[in-house]
Amino acid sequence: MAGRPMRRWPWIALALPPVGLVAIEVALATRPRHGGLGWTLLDLGLLLAPLLALGVVVPAYRRSRTEAQRRATAEAQAVWQRTFLETVISSIGSGVLVADRGGRLVLANREAARVAGALSEGAAVVDRWPDLARAVAGESVGPVDVTVAHPETGEEMLLETVARPVTGSDGTVLGAVLAVHDVTARRQAERDQAYLASLVQASEDAIIGMTVDGTIQSWNPGAERLYGYAAAEVLGRSVDVLMPPGVPRSVDLVRGMGTERTRHMETQRRAKDGRVVDVSVVVSPLRDAAGRLVGVATISRDVTAARRAAEELRLSQESYRLMFEANPQPMWVYDVESLRFLEVNQAAVTRYGYLREEFLAMTIFDIRPPEDAPAVRASAAWQVAGISRTGPWRHLTKDGRVLFVEVVSHPVTLHGRAARLVVAHDVTEQLRVEETLRAQARRDRLTGLPNRLRLTEEVQRLAAEPAAADHTALLLLDLDRFKDVNEGLGHDAGDRLLVEVGRRLRAVVRAGDLVARLGADEFAVLAGGLPSPASAGEVAGNILAALGSPVVLDGLSLPVQASVGVATLRPGQPGERLLADADVAMYRAKAAGGGWAVFGAQDEADRRSRFTLVSGLRAALDVGAVEVHYQPKVDLASGLVTGVEALARWTHPELGPVRPDVFVPLAEQTGLVGELTRQVLRTALTRCRSWAAEGLHVPVAVNVSALSLQQPGFVDMVTEAIAECGVVGSLLTLEITESALAQRDTAALEVLHRLRRLGLGLSVDDFGTGFSAMTYLKDLPVTEMKIDRAFVHGLASDERDASIVATLVSLARTLRLTVVAEGVEDEAVRARLRGLGCDQAQGYGIHVPAAPATLLPWLRRFTGPRPAITA
Ligand code: C2E
Ligand code: CA
Ligand code: CA
Repeated sequence: MAGRPMRRWPWIALALPPVGLVAIEVALATRPRHGGLGWTLLDLGLLLAPLLALGVVVPAYRRSRTEAQRRATAEAQAVWQRTFLETVISSIGSGVLVADRGGRLVLANREAARVAGALSEGAAVVDRWPDLARAVAGESVGPVDVTVAHPETGEEMLLETVARPVTGSDGTVLGAVLAVHDVTARRQAERDQAYLASLVQASEDAIIGMTVDGTIQSWNPGAERLYGYAAAEVLGRSVDVLMPPGVPRSVDLVRGMGTERTRHMETQRRAKDGRVVDVSVVVSPLRDAAGRLVGVATISRDVTAARRAAEELRLSQESYRLMFEANPQPMWVYDVESLRFLEVNQAAVTRYGYLREEFLAMTIFDIRPPEDAPAVRASAAWQVAGISRTGPWRHLTKDGRVLFVEVVSHPVTLHGRAARLVVAHDVTEQLRVEETLRAQARRDRLTGLPNRLRLTEEVQRLAAEPAAADHTALLLLDLDRFKDVNEGLGHDAGDRLLVEVGRRLRAVVRAGDLVARLGADEFAVLAGGLPSPASAGEVAGNILAALGSPVVLDGLSLPVQASVGVATLRPGQPGERLLADADVAMYRAKAAGGGWAVFGAQDEADRRSRFTLVSGLRAALDVGAVEVHYQPKVDLASGLVTGVEALARWTHPELGPVRPDVFVPLAEQTGLVGELTRQVLRTALTRCRSWAAEGLHVPVAVNVSALSLQQPGFVDMVTEAIAECGVVGSLLTLEITESALAQRDTAALEVLHRLRRLGLGLSVDDFGTGFSAMTYLKDLPVTEMKIDRAFVHGLASDERDASIVATLVSLARTLRLTVVAEGVEDEAVRARLRGLGCDQAQGYGIHVPAAPATLLPWLRRFTGPRPAITA
């Protein structure tokens, strides 16, 4: 500013006091934001200096008397003032620019030059500083923030500017002053601070600032949450409010800081509600510029939950460890990459026979048979996530035993490696049992031969093989009169016979053929690889020949006879058909009195008629078309009627009369027999009642098949029939075949007793056809014995039959049974029976079974004069 022309001085002189004041005012306007002691002192100086100047300059000026003196004094004053002002302005931290009324630069200090670039006096500064232009126009502007580029570096600067007009004592604008303050750094600091403050505010952690004596200075929301105190409650109080007994006080906290930068500690704090909280605390010293400790900041975090979790983890790890080690199931952990065992439990050691160390030196391949290696590899590859259950696998023990094992595994991390935890369930025993059961389900217990299920499976399998057709035959065997052996010599003998038959069959067939036992006395041979369908007959012949020689049981030599049905598997024929065909052929063979029969065209027709019969019988029962004929029994001594036997009669609408030996077994096989029995019983009882109504005392006998007797509700059905037909029980006798009674189970016996309690007579029908009944007849609640017509028939001519009948009659006497001979066809037999002491007789020789109308006159003749007994 030196060398400035003096002609400007008059303006300066005039402008000085206001410029000084404005400069000071401007400086003051920004002061509060500068902060710092230096600034305050400078500002104080600035405030005092003009006052000082005015105090010195103005009185001196006034004191001068002469013009020259005044001028000289004024000039001296002006120089002094200018120097003073320049000094003051240049030492202001802010940039100061002074412009004249025309907006040209009058004065700029160093700071102004730094931020605005070098300016020559008289430069038109208002162009650059619009606020200055406005101030020259008389307006006060600012403080405002202005962004400008640094004149040299080009870096962006943030300037705070204040512009003020400078007015003379008369109020005219003399010029303007612009104060410029570089706030770039300050604003950055302010932003940083705001950012930090918001971090503190937002932090989850409790952040507390305190003085060296522990007085709380700041308290963030995290602290509020953790300790429960609102900021207002604790600011200014000692932080010791948070210290539970036994933890260091705040003074220790601060004193302990020494020269450390931060300290980390795990301690406890007490929340407002008295809860003691485990905290992790970071303590940071707060130091002033000189490095003196002025306070500390603590950042605390609640670790109660984390600590509890850690404790729980430790506990659960221990219990898992125990569950692993003490588990009775073998368990191990293997590395999924190397497939090495990483851990094994005691059960694995015991079960597999390897020492723990041996295990840990092996991979899972080592406990698997070599041939399973590809499967092991594959399963190891895809067992990636979640629990998997696989198996059964074969595992090898150290001594080479094979275990069948089901494996449950799931991924774990062990020693930082991806691994799988495996629980092995040894299912060896279970599989063995299952295998046995499966085999048993397909094996006949008695003979050890395959059973019906196994045969059916095999037939189905062959039926699906085109090559088997025409070369596979099924032979079904039914032993003739096996029942007699069973009942006559006992089940034990029967069993031995069956075993022997099975043995002979096995011996006679080829190795690949299947011999099965299907039921009581039914066997089957499934023969494959036959040259032609015709050769099946040869097999049948061989079988019959093999069975031909008698079997010796208990010293008795028994011939074994069988009926064999043969059927050949035909192309495209389902397996069931083969079984059904052989069955049909077998029945034909049986009907022919044994031998073998091959399924043929005729059987096809038979099967159809069988079907016709069943549907016809069902229809007949539906409409009550089954009729009943009656055959009388007479007292051998008096010749009078003792009762009649009801015999079912059915005439098929197209086929004509069907014999009961045909339709009764059919009814038994198709579940119709219960209804048949019911209808015959009701018809017979109704007839009995109507005869009684005519004064004829004619008890009735009704045949009951073994199957009906076993049906639940049979006794109830009989009870109902008696009640509804209005006949007393003693007028009814049920005829039950000897073989049906032979089933000696308690349930069947109970049925018989209940029937007897109804007052019914119970007759053992066809007695003698199974030779056994004598031994247990005494235990049965029966009232009558009917000697089978086979013995009666030859009575007159055959002495053996005579002795049998004689024995049976005396047996019946002993057991107090009424004895009836059936099949009495001629007078000779009748006479012989009378001689043997037989009670009653029945047969064509007395009367054929007849319809009631036909029988009625005969009944009138031979029914004795006895009172009618009806309910
Ligand atoms: P069964 O109980 O032994 O009946 C006697 C059979 O011998 C009757 O044959 C009868 O006609 C026949 N018969 C009677 N006297 C003589 C004779 O002097 N010589 C010969 N050779 N036979 C004689 P049917 O009526 O053909 O009955 C056959 C079998 O059918 C019966 O044998 C019986 O077991 C069964 N049956 C008949 N009706 C029924 C019924 O309603 N229910 C049940 N469950 N079975 C019945
Ligand atoms: Ca009978
Ligand atoms: Ca009979």
